[in-house]
Amino acid sequence: MASHLYRDTAVVLRTYKLGEADRIVVLLTEHHGKVRAVAKGVRKTRSKFGARLEPMSHVQLLLSQGRELDIVSQADSVESLAPLVGDLDHLTAGIAVLEAADQMALEREPNPRLYRMVVGALRTIAEQGGSLVVPAFYWKLLAAEGVRPELDVCVRCGEPGPLVAFDMDQGGVLCRTCRTGAAISEPALELMRMILGGRLNDALAAPPSKVTHEVMAHATRALEHHIERRLRSVALFESAGFEPAPPR
Ligand SMILES: [Zn+2]
Repeated sequence: MASHLYRDTAVVLRTYKLGEADRIVVLLTEHHGKVRAVAKGVRKTRSKFGARLEPMSHVQLLLSQGRELDIVSQADSVESLAPLVGDLDHLTAGIAVLEAADQMALEREPNPRLYRMVVGALRTIAEQGGSLVVPAFYWKLLAAEGVRPELDVCVRCGEPGPLVAFDMDQGGVLCRTCRTGAAISEPALELMRMILGGRLNDALAAPPSKVTHEVMAHATRALEHHIERRLRSVALFESAGFEPAPPR
């Protein structure tokens, strides 16, 4: 029986060994969601084929559909994200983007927006770097999932300020009276408003500082909070044996 062939563009999220010579590549494809595929024979020879299937590679693929794992028949490089290699900051940032994407992507569930965001973030890292690319990616990822923190008024009482704390359990910033979660500084809050308010490029120009570190800390905490809650809810639904209800 002829297997079903399809073409797609993808970013390689991660790889692992299979048997003596093969490698499994976990792909974030543009049109087929997260796909696991086997690249045969790539570890036997120093093949160009194998070199194109390293994490962070942006590739055009010909795949044949399998029952569990698809098979990579052909891989061509779309573009080089080469500045990533050899620069530790770029590499670390790239890995952070891939990890977050891997957590968010669902197997064989198309999410072209996520794919475009990942490609955009990796390109930005390769071309200009910047300490806010990763936190900005996290915030945009959460916003795309419908998680958008309140940044302008206290989430509990509506006071416009001063806003001194940030708590994702509450849904955003808090005033002095209502404060829970972690402290947030005014400059960090302003950068978060820029990231989520359509002034991303201005935010990305910010040089690394205590403030950009603070934005990263809040973004990481928010993403972890979201992923953990999602995983927990999935486990709950599976054990109870019913489908998740649509959000009210
Ligand atoms: Zn308040």
